[in-house]
Amino acid sequence: MKLGLPTCASGVRLKPSSTALPSGTPRHTQTQLRKSSGMAEPQVSKGKLAITGAVKDLPDSIRDLIQRSHQAKTLAYCPYSNFRVGAALLTEDGTVFLGCNVENACYNLGICAERNAVSTAVSQGQKRFKAIAITSDLKKQVISPCGGCRQVMLEFGADWDVYMTSSDGFYTRMTVQELLPLSFRPEDLKSEEN
Ligand SMILES: [Zn+2]
Repeated sequence: MKLGLPTCASGVRLKPSSTALPSGTPRHTQTQLRKSSGMAEPQVSKGKLAITGAVKDLPDSIRDLIQRSHQAKTLAYCPYSNFRVGAALLTEDGTVFLGCNVENACYNLGICAERNAVSTAVSQGQKRFKAIAITSDLKKQVISPCGGCRQVMLEFGADWDVYMTSSDGFYTRMTVQELLPLSFRPEDLKSEEN
């Protein structure tokens, strides 16, 4: 964020609000439930994104994933921005891969925590992801993945969850698809028109 470094620091201001739906609730049902119950969905207004819940209300598995992202954050190498970011990536078989931001004196060689986690997972033969949790030291404000990381996540599927969290116990959940609509995808390279 500072010095134009490639950290995922495009975090957005949040307002604490309502509770989360149980993990595993089908997505179309989530939408119906939110609409019918008045539960909060992520709302974007003037570039700000609203918190959708408190981490303490999430299922144990997701709370653990978020905790692992905090653990990853402690490993961040960010001597230039001092903006620590951690990511924990959950694969469909239950494995968790961690990533932190790693900066470089040649600023544009820095890599974001999310991309680090994805690259680590792929290098271990994992390409099917269930969720990723991202955290920074921001309070009352979740950390939002940069555009580049959204594209990298999309490479491995559009319908999995991104938990963007604050360091003080709040989160916003969106799918990769929701974070990067109208995207360019691997299948676009294979279309018959090309
Ligand atoms: Zn990024």
